[in-house]
Amino acid sequence: MYASAPIVVGTEMHNLITRLYPICRSITGNGTRDTLSILRQQIPLIVQEVPTGTKVFDWTVPKEWNIRDAWIKDSAGKRLIDFKKLNLHVVSYSVPVKQKMTFAELKPHLHTLPDHPGWVPYRTSYYKQDWGFCLSQEQLEQFSDAEEYDVCIDSSLEDGSLTYGEYFIQGRQREEVLISCHICHPSLADDNLSGVAVAVELAKYLAREPRRYSWRFLFIPGTIGSITWLSRNEEMAGRIRHGLVLTCLGDTNHFTYKRSRRGNAEIDRAFSKILKDSDQPYRVIDFFPYGYDERQYCSPGFDLPVGCLMRSQHGKFPEYHTSADNLDFVRPEALADSFATCVAGLDLIEHNYRFINRNPKCEPQLGARGLYQGLAAGPHRHQQELALLWVLNLSDGRNTLLDIAERADLPFAVIKPAADALLAAELLLPAKA
Ligand code: ZN
Repeated sequence: MYASAPIVVGTEMHNLITRLYPICRSITGNGTRDTLSILRQQIPLIVQEVPTGTKVFDWTVPKEWNIRDAWIKDSAGKRLIDFKKLNLHVVSYSVPVKQKMTFAELKPHLHTLPDHPGWVPYRTSYYKQDWGFCLSQEQLEQFSDAEEYDVCIDSSLEDGSLTYGEYFIQGRQREEVLISCHICHPSLADDNLSGVAVAVELAKYLAREPRRYSWRFLFIPGTIGSITWLSRNEEMAGRIRHGLVLTCLGDTNHFTYKRSRRGNAEIDRAFSKILKDSDQPYRVIDFFPYGYDERQYCSPGFDLPVGCLMRSQHGKFPEYHTSADNLDFVRPEALADSFATCVAGLDLIEHNYRFINRNPKCEPQLGARGLYQGLAAGPHRHQQELALLWVLNLSDGRNTLLDIAERADLPFAVIKPAADALLAAELLLPAKA
């Protein structure tokens, strides 16, 4: 979509996803620590540990879950289901089990997807003490009523802590932009290692040069992670001027942008505009209080301007929360495109200033100031000329460049260079914030 998306960036992100994919993550435990220590090799994020039992608004930080091994063996000792082959095989937060049991006893603890007989589902039981195995329908067919099974889940559920990562880039302004992604899913690639990989790449990109806003990146377990962060940083949350949750950004579907609760926040308008400018199919959907961590950021007590950028939408694609959301399902070219789209939207936010036309009485002579010389030849020339006229006309100190791009129905990528050229020609002054 964006010519500026080099495929090498997509390959780097895919490589990071490939490294993180085998780790068994959950909302707490060593999987999140191992994940953050790999991310720390790329960005100097700070790891925070919040003890089990900490009250976070209406919730409590749960016990820490860790798992070493799990299996179901037949009476001959053959592993029919093996956690070491695929960590989705164990229901996340399963309590420990070591028992021989009949198929009838075991069966209520087995989960399959009959409509996709080769796929393994992903299930969790965070807040209800339970255990279970996830397997393909094809694997289930190897089981028989006559057999006795040796069932083992070598897990622990103990006092420990919830782990999350935070990376802050100081900008000229104290006001912040929040980028949030979840790190609690085990071997699932699109949901949400793709969001993690795009966030890491954005952090590296934004740290490269001085910025207007301060930027805060959160790598947190879903739901309980954002609730924990908000509860510990209530005051800081007041500085968030724009925010974005990143998820499902590696599949080849078109983009879906989910608006913040406010519906018309600058971030909502920025991403709607960038997607419109892309000339590719896309969807902008309204806020609803379900999905990812935007639910918490947009709860009424915070009502932060935080939207969510996805390609395929949460819960709406067959591979969602199954073993088919794997390393083949996410593509380097889709990741590169997602990164470039985020850069376009976030750069818009960084550069969305207001200006004042210093020559407001009739049009200034653009040709005499050499402003036509910089224009492209060919079909884009007229668009660029129009952009100069629109920016001059609407720069009365009240309209931002996004206001102008929307009203002119011109791409932001054309309006911004026009404003730069007019500034250089001393026809514009920055308006006071
Ligand atoms: Zn999920």
